[in-house]
Amino acid sequence: MERIVVALGGNALERSGGDGSWAQAVVQMREAARGLASAVREGAELILTHGNGPQVGVLLRQNELAEREVPPRPVDVLVAESQGQIGYLIGQELEAALARERSPRTVLNFPSRMVVDAKDPAFQSPSKPVGRFYSEAEANLLRKSRGWAMSRDAARGGWRRLLPSPRPLRWLEAEAFLDWMARRKPASTVPIVAGGGGIPVLDRGQGRCEGVEAVIDKDYAAALVARTVAAPRLAILTDVPGVAVGFHRTWERWLGSVSASELREFHSRGEFSVGSMGPKVEAALEFLNAGGREALICDTTSLPRALRGQAGTRVRPG
Ligand code: ADP
Ligand code: MG
Repeated sequence: MERIVVALGGNALERSGGDGSWAQAVVQMREAARGLASAVREGAELILTHGNGPQVGVLLRQNELAEREVPPRPVDVLVAESQGQIGYLIGQELEAALARERSPRTVLNFPSRMVVDAKDPAFQSPSKPVGRFYSEAEANLLRKSRGWAMSRDAARGGWRRLLPSPRPLRWLEAEAFLDWMARRKPASTVPIVAGGGGIPVLDRGQGRCEGVEAVIDKDYAAALVARTVAAPRLAILTDVPGVAVGFHRTWERWLGSVSASELREFHSRGEFSVGSMGPKVEAALEFLNAGGREALICDTTSLPRALRGQAGTRVRPG
């Protein structure tokens, strides 16, 4: 069995333009689960992680609407909540799909924390847009009353809250998780770890960690997880077929097999947007640099074909 870390995109789980209902998320996950289950049938030992952008957006909105009666929960708590709900969703659908493929397994969710650095420059310049859109007047008010960083989204016409997106330094539960991995029967479970990039915490020393209002990009967390569990392959599943150069331009070209140095070159020319494709590309490069054998970036349903070298963007070392 080949160990593969698979990161599911938050946007791939909850398609933009949908009605935002849970029923729709279930349908979406059902589709993703089919690909995951057939990869398992073909011999993959999966370790899953996932994003949570749209889901945290919903929780922030619930916070906002309920504010008069229920004191808002801080962002680290919302990340923890998202790990619970998305892990549950993945478990329900993946277990059913695995049973259908005659490879039954229990999906085990491990809520996880990631230590971030209080001196990470991300805290000085928040960059990750979250939650709903606001008018300019609302944005100014929120900036003053709550100290939120706000940015204008020119394309979609409105203002959004920005959260710091620091790099994950250390996965707190890593050692205990590896311990569990060494003792389990690989053919009996599929673990989910570090959902939503992990709950961001600061290490205050003497065993005390403190949650912090930030969101970690799940792509960086996935690379860290893949290195920790020494997986030869990392697959990042999203809502586009792979990595494109000239994305949305007339000269757009989708990359198939590509070397790390070619990809690095495209990245240095600014081909990949900050906060979306950029982190995936950087995570892939980081992973290969640390000894990974192959990094895949593809859409949610193409995983089995991408693993066979027939779909998605496949990055090799060198
Ligand atoms: P996820 O939830 O999967 O992390 P993101 O929105 O963060 O989703 O990243 C995927 C998005 O990256 C795509 O929907 C696409 O719009 C965007 N993107 C930006 N630049 C590129 C590029 N060069 N090639 C492909 N997709 C790109
Ligand atoms: Mg993303």
